[in-house]
Amino acid sequence: MSIGASIALEAVSKRFDSGLQALDPIDLELRAGEFVSLVGPSGCGKSTLLRILAGLVAPSTGRCRLAPGAEAARAFVFQEPALLPWRTAERNAQLLMELEGLAPDELQRRAAEALALVGLAGMEKLYPHQLSGGMRMRLSLARALALRPGLLLLDEPLAAVDELSRELLQEELSALWRQAGFTGVLVTHSVHEAVFLSKRVVVMSPRPGRVVEVVEVPFAFPRTPQLRASAEFARLAGEVTAALRRESVPRAAFA
Ligand code: ADP
Ligand code: MG
Repeated sequence: MSIGASIALEAVSKRFDSGLQALDPIDLELRAGEFVSLVGPSGCGKSTLLRILAGLVAPSTGRCRLAPGAEAARAFVFQEPALLPWRTAERNAQLLMELEGLAPDELQRRAAEALALVGLAGMEKLYPHQLSGGMRMRLSLARALALRPGLLLLDEPLAAVDELSRELLQEELSALWRQAGFTGVLVTHSVHEAVFLSKRVVVMSPRPGRVVEVVEVPFAFPRTPQLRASAEFARLAGEVTAALRRESVPRAAFA
């Protein structure tokens, strides 16, 4: 459906006009078609880094190189589905493409395809208030996927979903990613979610954010629910948690 973009962040940092240093220089390469998660304490600059990857915020230093080029479609999914209540599911799914100026028949074709991909076939005519929380999140995903992004940026998309639905949505998201072929970058507070979905988990320090560790997750895809109960899964989640803790606890606490 789409061709994953590769991205190279070279000494990318961000200092806001207020003088606040959100990110220290970050070097990170994302391979085409890879799925990577960013974890780190609140305020460490995860959303800022996603916005830089999306091209919505300019880095203060360094550069963000995208192949096959800056024109590669990039799409964003937020924690809030931000759907238009007066539009049906299919009209919501068409929204971003309308802004891109695509022709009406192309809009319809792509929206139908994206809705089917997220499991909302047959729900095209329903309004957001007629959908469950999980379905609204799927619709928000469909709206992004309809752009056929080479890079999909997900900022805590499942944070507001209950635990069981969340696990099911993680499995769906993993399957979707394999099918659609985009490069995915997910920000999450859940270490288990990061490990379950990713090829690599990038652990960031408290603000100003920098990369403190990259944990490789060697499990094959598709990831299955049973994986969560395995000892190796627990070990990797423990490794990520330990890296987070090492950075988050002030050294002085041990002095
Ligand atoms: P995270 O997503 O990891 O919680 P953010 O990237 O949202 O962190 O924010 C990192 C830091 O930058 C925070 O201290 C936040 O208040 C600050 N920040 C975010 N956006 C802006 C902005 N536009 N102007 C000034 N400061 C900002
Ligand atoms: Mg954030």
